[in-house]
Amino acid sequence: MSLIETTEVRKSFGATEVLKGINLDVEGGEVIAIIGKSGSGKSTLLRCINGLETITSGSISVAGAQLLDDDVHLKALRLKVGMIFQQFNLFPHLTAGGNVMLSQTVVKKTPKAEAEATARKMLERVGLSHKFDAYPDELSGGQQQRVAIARALAMQPTALLCDEITSALDPELVAEVLAVVRELAAEGMTLLMVTHEMRFARDVCSRVVFMHQGRVHEAGRPEDVFAHPQTAELKQFLGVS
Ligand code: ADP
Ligand code: MG
Repeated sequence: MSLIETTEVRKSFGATEVLKGINLDVEGGEVIAIIGKSGSGKSTLLRCINGLETITSGSISVAGAQLLDDDVHLKALRLKVGMIFQQFNLFPHLTAGGNVMLSQTVVKKTPKAEAEATARKMLERVGLSHKFDAYPDELSGGQQQRVAIARALAMQPTALLCDEITSALDPELVAEVLAVVRELAAEGMTLLMVTHEMRFARDVCSRVVFMHQGRVHEAGRPEDVFAHPQTAELKQFLGVS
């Protein structure tokens, strides 16, 4: 049984079908890059897996549990699957430490002292132990995104979904965030990441999934997908002919 299984997942917004039957199985410890043009459905797929969108048909399971559209299931699911976005969405009035503690104390009802200890540990993991008391506006974009990663990790997820997490960063700040992701991958975290960092995808990911018009159009090992794209659409996306 795979950690994440999507079976014939379809998603429509009104009359527009955005996901047209997605079958994707993710094994524990896999690091998958999802690539594709803007509008191909990448974010929608991640949002469906995290229960932020309700699917129109098909099924999704995480760690053997079917994703059902009710509050109890969704809450349990979000504890297992963390998500990190392009925008860091930190609370500006809370310190880095406070941001990492918040979902633990609110969602998991973790006692404050334990949440703080976990927050310190997770901030250390992303190289920011010295920034526990800093407010978001005192941090660079790269540091803020690393706090967002620490916040997701504090929930002890079994998988992390990353949606273009370096796209809002100045170029010189991208590497520090990717370095953290690279480390998580090396530690065995299951990662499903939408990314434009092809070099990173090639170096770190075990599988690349190319989405086109709401379908998985081509997928495989990075060395195959990048060196020998099969379809005209992927060739065009990669800029090779
Ligand atoms: P990607 O992340 O690959 O750029 P998205 O999943 O964001 O693609 O979007 C896929 C398509 O779904 C786009 O055409 C987009 O306009 C549409 N879409 C996404 N979210 C919504 C929504 N909440 N309501 C209506 N249309 C949406
Ligand atoms: Mg997107």
